[in-house]
Amino acid sequence: MLELKNVSKFYSNKKMVSVGFSKVSLKFDIGEFIAITGESGSGKSTLLNVISGLDSYEEGEMLINGQETSHYSEKDYEMYRKKYIGNIFQNFNLVNSYTVYQNIELVLLLNGKKKSEVKDKVLDLIDKVNLKKYKNTKVSKLSGGQKQRVGIARALALDTPIILADEPTGNLDKKSSESVLELLYNISKEKLVIVVTHNYDQIEKYVTRKITMHDGRVLSDTIIKKHENVDKIKENISHDVGLANKIRLGVRNAFNIPTKFLLILAVYLFIVFSTFFVYSSFQELKYENSIDGYNNFFNNLDKKRVIIKKKDKTAFTDDDYENISKLSNIDRIVKNDMSLDQNISLSSNKFYYYGIVQSVNLITKVDKGRMPENDREVVLVTNEYDYSISEEYDEVIESNFTLEELYEEENKIKIVGVIFNNDTYNNIIYISDMLLEKLNDRINKRFSEVTYTFKGISGTSYYGSKNNEILPSDKVKSGYAIINDDWKYECANDNCNNEKLNIKVKNIFYELNNNYAFLSTYTNETIKKVSGYDKDYYGAIFINTNDYNSLYNRGYFQSSVFVEDEKLVRNTMNELDKLGFTTLYIKDTVYAYDSSVTAVLNIVMLVVILSLIIVLFYTSYFIIKLVLKSRNTYYSTLRVLGSSFNVSKSILNIELLTIAHLAYLIFAIFIIFIKKSIINSDSLISLCSYVSGLDYIMLYVILIFMTLLITFRYARKLFKDTIMNNYRQEV
Ligand code: ADP
Ligand code: MG
Repeated sequence: MLELKNVSKFYSNKKMVSVGFSKVSLKFDIGEFIAITGESGSGKSTLLNVISGLDSYEEGEMLINGQETSHYSEKDYEMYRKKYIGNIFQNFNLVNSYTVYQNIELVLLLNGKKKSEVKDKVLDLIDKVNLKKYKNTKVSKLSGGQKQRVGIARALALDTPIILADEPTGNLDKKSSESVLELLYNISKEKLVIVVTHNYDQIEKYVTRKITMHDGRVLSDTIIKKHENVDKIKENISHDVGLANKIRLGVRNAFNIPTKFLLILAVYLFIVFSTFFVYSSFQELKYENSIDGYNNFFNNLDKKRVIIKKKDKTAFTDDDYENISKLSNIDRIVKNDMSLDQNISLSSNKFYYYGIVQSVNLITKVDKGRMPENDREVVLVTNEYDYSISEEYDEVIESNFTLEELYEEENKIKIVGVIFNNDTYNNIIYISDMLLEKLNDRINKRFSEVTYTFKGISGTSYYGSKNNEILPSDKVKSGYAIINDDWKYECANDNCNNEKLNIKVKNIFYELNNNYAFLSTYTNETIKKVSGYDKDYYGAIFINTNDYNSLYNRGYFQSSVFVEDEKLVRNTMNELDKLGFTTLYIKDTVYAYDSSVTAVLNIVMLVVILSLIIVLFYTSYFIIKLVLKSRNTYYSTLRVLGSSFNVSKSILNIELLTIAHLAYLIFAIFIIFIKKSIINSDSLISLCSYVSGLDYIMLYVILIFMTLLITFRYARKLFKDTIMNNYRQEV
């Protein structure tokens, strides 16, 4: 079945060529039990390695079942070994960090055997070589003799027709040698067994043939006794290695050498954490640079301001405000947040001031003039270089102004005090809480869309339009509405008694849909009497004052919190989030005035991060390569046992990916601990706030990509050479 025709093997080392063996012609059959003897250096091991397909040959032809092998590629050799060869080595080539069980299991897993078929077979083989007691012992702890018995069990695990053993009993005592040889002899009845030995006497009684080598040549080839003829040749049928097997091996390898595991874990942790810190620090720097800016929606850009809403979108309750005020770092709460962003204007026939509005309760003294004494007196914060104040102060102070946004009949406001702030050109107007309340009420109404329907008539209520709006009246009963006389023609027989008026209010915070029963109609003559309004209001709809107020005063849906310490704002936002509020930090809404600084920072960041990743990649590559170098033997052994490039690569991938994921998991837990304030560090909380979900995903992708690249480079290097050359590099 196996034939060598004039086969020669040469070793070339640094241009020196030496002969392993030359012009060997031999023919082997199933059923034979062959001993190869000869002095040391005569070429026995080399011959065995060539037959095994572990080493290539340079001359002649080797035939298996009549098929030539001289053209074999690495892949063909893989197939050849899997199908035909079981090896027993002089120096064992076991995986020292695996247990006895795992070593034997390994070859079955690599040949795609299912987990269920593996277990019985492995236990059976362990029994056969008398190592039951050592089943779960690591191979490194065994004696040489015991190791070789593991090696034999492993060679027998697959149903290969050829078993090749290089000095198999060299390390066994006399008694166990005997039993092993007997075992080999028994299997030789249906296999071809070739044993290289120094000790021919020991094996003599079993062999069917004796080959003696000398100086790389066959000196003699003697038949000792007739072997049984076997017609049927069994070949090992191997399957593709399933993912489950690869994962079992990969995960096992990740943890089975603790120091290696910790070292690689440390490398990964370093990659993740250093990238995170460099990136987030840059983001923070960029952010700090962009805080002076503008915003299209908010006018009050106080850096201590956080806008809050309830996550369930309902109105704030007293309890809510109570809970918020109990938090640390809260300076004050502005319940009606809309007013903060409201710009108001004060005008007289000569002067005009424009600015954001604030409650007068926030100030205690003024630079010029006096503090307000009643609800209609206000304080102005402005720049000293505003000429109307510096030159014409006397005309401004204590004279009458109109607050444009109030739309009041009686609208007389006095500026009684001035505060100077030369840092800004934005004025602030401090007004009484009464005026603020009125202003808020107006804002609420202006930002609500109010529509009504009565029978076939529908329309929109325009605030301030007099004859086309819904208005409050104390003369109307609660739950009822009064409409003008013209509308009664919509009703059958002009009788509207059982009809309803529907009013819808819609704004960004809530939606209402109320029905009011028809009470009566009014005419030009009766309007004053039934509603209290004069003829100018003919056309309006009147409802009860309380009903009217409840359309708008539904509580606060958005408030602002002002913190005491700007540095702790992220912390406070976290606490608010836990209480059930959505938060928006005003700084986060601001566009920078000067975007060139940000642009430069962006470029610097890109360069630094990219360099960091490249440096990290090469450092990690070399460290991991160094760690893996000690594993060359392992991967060479895998290869001997039939693992292909792709399978080895997958197993290595799984090993490294397991550790990479573990590192990322540790990192993720670290971040969660920061976010949940279990790790309580203000600077870490702040750093975290600059890193988005997408950034975390990017970091993960980088980690995985680096791992795949490292594995690929390493595996390619490993498979560039023949197996025996890889082994030799080890010694
Ligand atoms: P044996 O197993 O009979 O002791 P070997 O097969 O190991 O003999 O060696 C046969 C010849 O090949 C010897 O001359 C040895 O020096 C040479 N040889 C073996 N391995 C190598 C190698 N890796 N590089 C160079 N020469 C080698
Ligand atoms: Mg040898």
